[in-house]
Amino acid sequence: MGEFELIARHFARPTQRAVVGPGDDCAVIAPRAGHRLAVSCDMLVEGRHFLPTVDARRLGHKALAVNLSDLAACGAEPLACTLALALPRPDAAWLEAFAGGLHALAERHGCELVGGDTTCGPLNLCITVFGEVGDGRAAPGAILRSGARAGDDLWVSHAPQGGLGDARLALEVFRGTVALEGTAFERVRRAMECPEPRVALGVALRGLAGAAIDVSDGLTGDLGHLLRASAVGATLEADALPRSAELAAQPLALQRLCTLAGGDDYELVFTVPAGRRAEVEAAAAQAGCAVRRVGRIEAEPGLRIVDQAGGPLEGAWPSFDHFA
Ligand code: ADP
Ligand code: MG
Repeated sequence: MGEFELIARHFARPTQRAVVGPGDDCAVIAPRAGHRLAVSCDMLVEGRHFLPTVDARRLGHKALAVNLSDLAACGAEPLACTLALALPRPDAAWLEAFAGGLHALAERHGCELVGGDTTCGPLNLCITVFGEVGDGRAAPGAILRSGARAGDDLWVSHAPQGGLGDARLALEVFRGTVALEGTAFERVRRAMECPEPRVALGVALRGLAGAAIDVSDGLTGDLGHLLRASAVGATLEADALPRSAELAAQPLALQRLCTLAGGDDYELVFTVPAGRRAEVEAAAAQAGCAVRRVGRIEAEPGLRIVDQAGGPLEGAWPSFDHFA
């Protein structure tokens, strides 16, 4: 299978919203009047972001999911994406599964694959997503990291039966530091390999959340970015963080490591004025996910992590840094 046959067979699909899709030198996409494009790009490298043994369909899903999660954090509605793909060899079964996972998630979110690039090389996936936000006049604009204010509540999203930290728990099982078997392992493994981007929640939070960020590198680190961008601080209640039954069955120190520093959660952390709690609950119900209040924004800079009794938690929870 040659390069162009590969693209035609697995990636070039007729587009409905894009004016020009795959096959020309550029794709052409048309945001609605009164809207702006929100653009984000995320790369997945074998051995760094995923294990070589991962199921190809799940990998196709995750490569797009991590990008849609960035759109979600801005409250943007997905419009289109491009895929830059380096592949060691054109394995038809692998490509079929990978493209299947990617197209299935793309279709669910109306995010058309409009172009890309395909080369031979070590497995590497880079997706760019394009989303739509209001221009801030007729319709609410993008939710930024910089809009948190002292007095706001701090919230996190989670799956109804899930929470933060499951992806890290699965990683520890792969590393051999934690033993977990059967359906319990399958559930946390699914959280790691098949994250669900909170796109509908992000859209529902427009005009409601002052600031938001998605948790990709670990809660404390990502929340830290939001706090610095907003020039505020926060108190975070560690024991209020949502946890799956699988994680809640682990020793407390491991629970804290996974929820506070885990990474690969792809949940939204966001801030909303304290008088608007009912609206947040309604937005989450409409979006089909759960949300929990886990702290508050304060004027004093820095992140204060406390236990149930309000006492400070000792310890360091470093978030992921590729060059640290
Ligand atoms: P060019 O040489 O002009 O960059 P290419 O030969 O790389 O174009 O690609 C041909 C067409 O196929 C382009 O429209 C490009 O966007 C599309 N394309 C290439 N790789 C992919 C891919 N992995 N997924 C979707 N479209 C792709
Ligand atoms: Mg090219």
